[in-house]
Amino acid sequence: MITDFQTALETGDLAALRACPKADLHVHAIMGGNREFIRERTGHDIAPLDGVLGSMDEMHSWVGERVGALFQGAAGRAVAFEATFVQARRDGVSRLEVGEDIWSITLHDGSAQSVWEMLQTAHAEGGPQVEWIPQMGMSRHCPFRALEWWMAPMLELGTFKTLDLSGDEFAQPIEVFEPLYRRAKAAGLTLKAHVGEWGTADDVWRAVELLELDEVQHGIAAADSPQVMRMLAETGVRLHICPTSNLKLGRVARMEDHPIRRLYDAGVKVTVNTDDVLMFGSSLSEEFLALHQAGLMTAAELDAVRLEGLR
Ligand SMILES: [Zn+2]
Repeated sequence: MITDFQTALETGDLAALRACPKADLHVHAIMGGNREFIRERTGHDIAPLDGVLGSMDEMHSWVGERVGALFQGAAGRAVAFEATFVQARRDGVSRLEVGEDIWSITLHDGSAQSVWEMLQTAHAEGGPQVEWIPQMGMSRHCPFRALEWWMAPMLELGTFKTLDLSGDEFAQPIEVFEPLYRRAKAAGLTLKAHVGEWGTADDVWRAVELLELDEVQHGIAAADSPQVMRMLAETGVRLHICPTSNLKLGRVARMEDHPIRRLYDAGVKVTVNTDDVLMFGSSLSEEFLALHQAGLMTAAELDAVRLEGLR
């Protein structure tokens, strides 16, 4: 059966793509907001990145120059979160997994409840009709003791559903985070981490094994190893892939060559996501369209990928 989503891909109808339910499961709120909403709310127009960057350091400089202090402090971050829910709503994202870095508890006088209330307000104001999966995040450069200290009250709330680790993949060895992942697992959270974006297929393997990951953010380096792809396929670990992000950060040279094709063919569960839509300028609907227009995947395959995200 040809679905509305498949027809929309075949005809390049962005409005029809927006009308189809879809899940965005790899999103960072600080750079995940809707450009028009931010312009109206703050008076700042943030044009997306033009060209390709070569490192996470370059990415952080770009954000510093273009966004500056706009989303700093508890109030600034609240605007970024609201803008992220607005972006999801306007693009027809029906399920959004996003959340706050546990470090941000320091902006709320150590109150996890206050962090939670900010997120709830952003959801209510920005896109209450979007199903929200609350995620707590950790930055890979933060010292273990600090992460441990910040995580405890966030876990105690009992409201977060998933855990992610992001930032510079080479900041600290993955085993540093093992005790924190054990605690999150005991609390029933779904476990994710950014790995295999800048790192290797072996890094993906190691992180999945040591941290007992359910899902991987990016993980595209796995496509370099038939063994690692087999492990992912057999264990059912899902990869939340962000194609335009990979292009704009120089991880993949051309959309036509994106490793999502090899991963899909190897039976690895994959989803398509945005990462940082404000920076990369490509909505979730546009990500699906780009993969189709590059001739990389058929409309039926992309529909299966969309449904995987909604599963
Ligand atoms: Zn990411």
